[in-house]
Amino acid sequence: MENKKLIGVDLGGTSIKFAIMTIDGEIQQRWSEETNILDEGSHIIPDIIDSINHHLKLYAMTTDQFAGIGMGSPGSVDRENGTVIGAYNLNWKSLVYPKREIEKATGIPFFIDNDANVAALGERWKGAGDNQDDVAFITLGTGIGGGIIANGQLLHGVSGSAGEVGHITVDPKGYLCTCGKHGCLETIASATGIVRVARDMAEEYAGDSELKRHLDDGDEISAKIVFDYAKTNDTLALLVVDRITYFLGLALANIGNTLNPSFIVIGGGVSAAGDFLLSRVQKYFAEFTFPNVRDNTKLRLATLGNVAGVVGAASLVLENTKD
Ligand SMILES: [Zn+2]
Repeated sequence: MENKKLIGVDLGGTSIKFAIMTIDGEIQQRWSEETNILDEGSHIIPDIIDSINHHLKLYAMTTDQFAGIGMGSPGSVDRENGTVIGAYNLNWKSLVYPKREIEKATGIPFFIDNDANVAALGERWKGAGDNQDDVAFITLGTGIGGGIIANGQLLHGVSGSAGEVGHITVDPKGYLCTCGKHGCLETIASATGIVRVARDMAEEYAGDSELKRHLDDGDEISAKIVFDYAKTNDTLALLVVDRITYFLGLALANIGNTLNPSFIVIGGGVSAAGDFLLSRVQKYFAEFTFPNVRDNTKLRLATLGNVAGVVGAASLVLENTKD
């Protein structure tokens, strides 16, 4: 095992990222391919196989040098059977068999988990999680995902939904979520949620605000634009950020109260707002946490960026082959 290598695959709707790593987590090679979602996503698995085989040839490596391939995938993942269903951004509507096909074509053992869990493993191993046994991870992107590592183990729950922190109810009378509930954290604090909150608050806001003028002019906005205005002390943008960070702080405090991890790591595109975001979430986190959790569970920004997925995916091999 000592000299064996790992392959990590991070499968997303626009690109597939690959990495060859040592078992100590050092990245040796990295590349990516565009995701071809045409024809119900039927090209995706063959493309992954071709890309791996092509790159092993390119680097003059053989399959027996590898302990395994780990992959993070959108959709509902069956880890035992190595199947995926309902990955709509890949056009995978029916059951897909990545494990069966990739093992057959490469001869390398294959392991799979969902993309948010895999990113959590990556941040925990080589990022802001400092390789601690208790780390929670939340990713603020178009939606909100998460992954929980407790006592050194990634949590899956009885049916694979552990760590679905985007669907924590924070506002029972709030917006309707894609999951059918009202007031999920994702409806407020995801990139799309932030835009929705900004539009709604702008309608009722009567004060002077560049953000309001921007919206009234019908210009496109994004979570980044909202944060950029807030950083210039725009009054409406600051109110929007305060509302979002209130709900984020509330949700993260309750994750903290439940799990008491060393770190709750915040990643995803929205986390690019940096310490400006973190300090405001921290304020509400402190308000809603049990004292011992407030003192010992720390909020941190993710550090791996978009490498978290491949690093965590590669680590699935170690998670699944250790005794
Ligand atoms: Zn929901």
